[in-house]
Amino acid sequence: MRDLRIAVIPGDGIGKEVVPEGIRVLEAAAAKHDLRFKWDEFPWSCEYFLEQGRMMPVDGLDRIRHHDAIFLGAVGFPGVPDHVSLWGLLIPIRRGFKQYANVRPVKLMPGVPCPLAGRQVGDIDFIVVRENNEGEYSSIGGRLYEGTDQEMAVQQTVFTRQGVDRILKYAFELAQSRPKKHLTSATKSNGIAITMPYWDERVKAMGARYPEVKVDQFHIDILCAHFVRNPHWFDVVVGSNLFGDILSDLGPGCTGTIAIAPSANLNPEREFPSMFEPVHGSAPDIYGKGIANPIGQIWAGAMMLDHLGCPEAGASVVAAIEKVLASGLRTPDMGGKASTTDMGRAIADAV
Ligand code: ATP
Ligand code: MG
Repeated sequence: MRDLRIAVIPGDGIGKEVVPEGIRVLEAAAAKHDLRFKWDEFPWSCEYFLEQGRMMPVDGLDRIRHHDAIFLGAVGFPGVPDHVSLWGLLIPIRRGFKQYANVRPVKLMPGVPCPLAGRQVGDIDFIVVRENNEGEYSSIGGRLYEGTDQEMAVQQTVFTRQGVDRILKYAFELAQSRPKKHLTSATKSNGIAITMPYWDERVKAMGARYPEVKVDQFHIDILCAHFVRNPHWFDVVVGSNLFGDILSDLGPGCTGTIAIAPSANLNPEREFPSMFEPVHGSAPDIYGKGIANPIGQIWAGAMMLDHLGCPEAGASVVAAIEKVLASGLRTPDMGGKASTTDMGRAIADAV
């Protein structure tokens, strides 16, 4: 029997509805695979912010530092600006715990209507790896000459050798471990002529260490077009913080619904806990109706099992999702009538 201690942050909105379904399914997987979960719940959220003036306590990171992983729903709610939930909770956890690899599988699932004409299950099955700690999302910069006609805003992109090399190493290792051994790098070295050529140079240097991996690169603009026109080309796609952000929403968008897409914020060295969450947000428009699709959360749970060294348990969860989708059960976002709980129960039973 293996014990796994998980910090649970349901957060806001439908995060509070889908997290319990994720736990339900993970409990089913645990029963089958000789695992025992201990769930410690933390109420950090926009509601907490409105009461306490912060998204989480000052020593928040210390309270979850020794957990095996973090299982997050979603944060953000009307009335609290997005930058508060982002910079008050998500970014401190991602940066504080060096979760520099944001990994998002993109897979067309059986029975989910694909918005790309003619695409079938099997055609779209790749992983986007986004650099999660530096790059374009730096806080270096500011406004100059305010109030004059010379007024300007500048913000610097930061690519450190350490930061770029560690995400590339992660992406190359991942590509090497997959049957196609194919890595695509997102760049824009024609327009962004200082930082992106550096990124390209590091891709080339890292590639030399992985001779079995086939590498190609595309400028971000045409890469977006290829995601839509030729999604079957891709296996592992790596991008900087900004490009990875764009691609990791576009990818799931190409498979029908972001509601089923999972996201892992990984500290590959396992020095700190990694965090697992659905790609979608707190969806205030449907909160409280019991109709949120819990699959993104459940699939994030499967990624958590993989990361914690229980790949058979993780695979059993993904297989259960596929089986239930293939059986025709659908929440309203996929054109059906099933509730959040119906879907969670069906997947737990299938596990
Ligand atoms: P964030 O900035 O936190 O990512 P967002 O503004 O991108 O949030 P979401 O909260 O992801 O928005 O919601 C976008 C749309 O998708 C909304 O109409 C929402 O109802 C729908 N949606 C999101 N997640 C789900 C889900 N799990 N089930 C059903 N619909 C969903
Ligand atoms: Mg969003």
